[in-house]
Amino acid sequence: MKTVHIAKTAGFCMGVALALKKLDQAIASKKDGQTIVTQGPIIHNPQILKYYREKGVFECRSLDEPGPQTIVVIRAHGIPLDVQQTIEKTGATLMDATCPKVKKAQTLIEKHAKEGRHLLLFGEKDHPEVKGLVSYAREGFTVFENMEELETILPTLAQPCFLVAQTTQDRAEFQAVKTRLLEALGELPVMDTICTATKQRQEEAIALAKEVDYLVVVGGKNSGNTRRLAQVASATGTPCCHVECKEELPLDDLIDCTTIGLTAGASTPEDVINEVYLHLRELDGPSLPDIPPLGIMNPSWKVPSADQCMKWWDTYAMIENIRLHSLAVTHVALSITRMALAHSPQVFAFDPTRSVEAAALLHDLAKAYCIYYGGNHAQVGASWVMALTGNPAIAQAVLHHISWPGKVDVKRHFLPLVVAYSDKRVRHDTIVSLDDRLEDLIHRYGETSARRTKIRTIFQQVTTIEHQLEQLTGVSLHAYSFDSRRLVS
Ligand code: SF4
Repeated sequence: MKTVHIAKTAGFCMGVALALKKLDQAIASKKDGQTIVTQGPIIHNPQILKYYREKGVFECRSLDEPGPQTIVVIRAHGIPLDVQQTIEKTGATLMDATCPKVKKAQTLIEKHAKEGRHLLLFGEKDHPEVKGLVSYAREGFTVFENMEELETILPTLAQPCFLVAQTTQDRAEFQAVKTRLLEALGELPVMDTICTATKQRQEEAIALAKEVDYLVVVGGKNSGNTRRLAQVASATGTPCCHVECKEELPLDDLIDCTTIGLTAGASTPEDVINEVYLHLRELDGPSLPDIPPLGIMNPSWKVPSADQCMKWWDTYAMIENIRLHSLAVTHVALSITRMALAHSPQVFAFDPTRSVEAAALLHDLAKAYCIYYGGNHAQVGASWVMALTGNPAIAQAVLHHISWPGKVDVKRHFLPLVVAYSDKRVRHDTIVSLDDRLEDLIHRYGETSARRTKIRTIFQQVTTIEHQLEQLTGVSLHAYSFDSRRLVS
């Protein structure tokens, strides 16, 4: 299987998240008869724009369009000052979703321009953020995109000037620009307006590109920060592509790569990143060697009793809430096993009930230890269980109870998959739906985009397990309450 490393910084930055939140608030507070338009695309991402079009939010086509019944949301990149003033005169309600960092750049430009200085702006002439920024430079401005262009304009410059960068510019290039201008003009106020989010993404993309065979950058083709991520990563010499969706992946180039890096621009939604991630992981999925079906199919392996398992809880100092959680998981796993045995007896060569019970009771055996001393509780627990029971099937179920590393086939791998599924139906000691448990894990462990993606990936797999278990049991597990929301021990 390919190893895919996702950059921690992949996905929405603060400015984009804030802009979408404001747009969502506008939609939620909209009164009958009001319409919502955005001044320019709210962010540079085609999937997000499609999503909002489906909610009835369109881009403002002309400045004659807004009226008193219109809510105009200003895009994250900001808009030119004169456009804003024209909209204000229409009587429309203005909702400013300009990113605070762009806003800061606008304010700094306005302040220095008022002092009579000429703006030198290092940025892309056609970018909407740049068009907005220069509108605050009353004393005139010059925009240049690279060092070559700077050299051509240098002879025409007259002091006093000041230097600003578009928020998404490369910091190293800006430093070179600054050095050259100071050399040519002497004193020059320089505004540090490059966004840290951009810098962090670029640094991580470079570091990731150096570690992998290929780097995939996901995001809108018209997103400046995504394009530049691809540029800085390509400059490392690692092959790199910039795609908007999984369908654009260059499969011929990727198929021979073992390690792939994945990063995304600041305007790329998590769903799109997840889709690309899953697609990359599955590129060579069908040719993977299957995992040995340790399952529960070897009757010569000894299975410990429930009493014995609980004695090991004492030996390994399992804390109270983990015991309660394990009992609830065991209740769910045994309920499913009984239903599966009743509905599809032909699938089982041996009764799996006792193995399921032992694996479920022991699945978090090392959790308390790893909370205190570190380590992966599934791996540590599996090694303990192997040493204690000598039963590789139960150890395998403990090892893979967080996620299953191969193709989901509940008939072939019933024991580990029923334990992995049951674990996702229990929040603390309460039986919940998969959706509730996903929300719970995102809330508790999803502090970074990469972790949220990982959790969602696990839940996509658990949903597949659920569908297959439903066929095996003949029961709609999605809505099944397992008799009681609370534990039945
Ligand atoms: S990249 Fe930075 S400046 Fe641009 S929207 Fe995001 S937070 Fe704001």
